[in-house]
Amino acid sequence: MFQQGKQVRDKKLNCSKCDVSCLKNTYETTGGFCMPCFMELNDGLRPAELRSLKGRGLFEYFNRWNTFVKKGVPKIKRNRNIIDKLSHYLPVINASISGYLRFGKGIFDGHKNSEFLVELKESSEGELLEFLAELERFNNELVNASKT
Ligand SMILES: [Zn+2]
Repeated sequence: MFQQGKQVRDKKLNCSKCDVSCLKNTYETTGGFCMPCFMELNDGLRPAELRSLKGRGLFEYFNRWNTFVKKGVPKIKRNRNIIDKLSHYLPVINASISGYLRFGKGIFDGHKNSEFLVELKESSEGELLEFLAELERFNNELVNASKT
């Protein structure tokens, strides 16, 4: 009996993906993976961050946001004015949305993002305008989602 119990306790827990041996706690919180594999499979999220996203009902937004970011900003014609504005505002908007989704700390200031987007849209056209409109829709949805 005792021998069996000991064997179970000492049993090696290997990651289901890369087969590296894991700590019992890691193995259990990740559902059978080492931490690097878990994060690779979950867009860089740790188990606690993933739980928190799901708990706050924001997991779907996180996935959509990742897809949107991966698509990237459309190539635009040389236009110093709009390029300057984009390089100034887009990182701020991205940090605001990503930070809120991932860490959920502080209040999500979607209204500030809206003001930036209105200003960007004024000097944009074509594909860039469509990109900004999509970003604006997402931002507005997140504003509503963060109220509840
Ligand atoms: Zn692994």
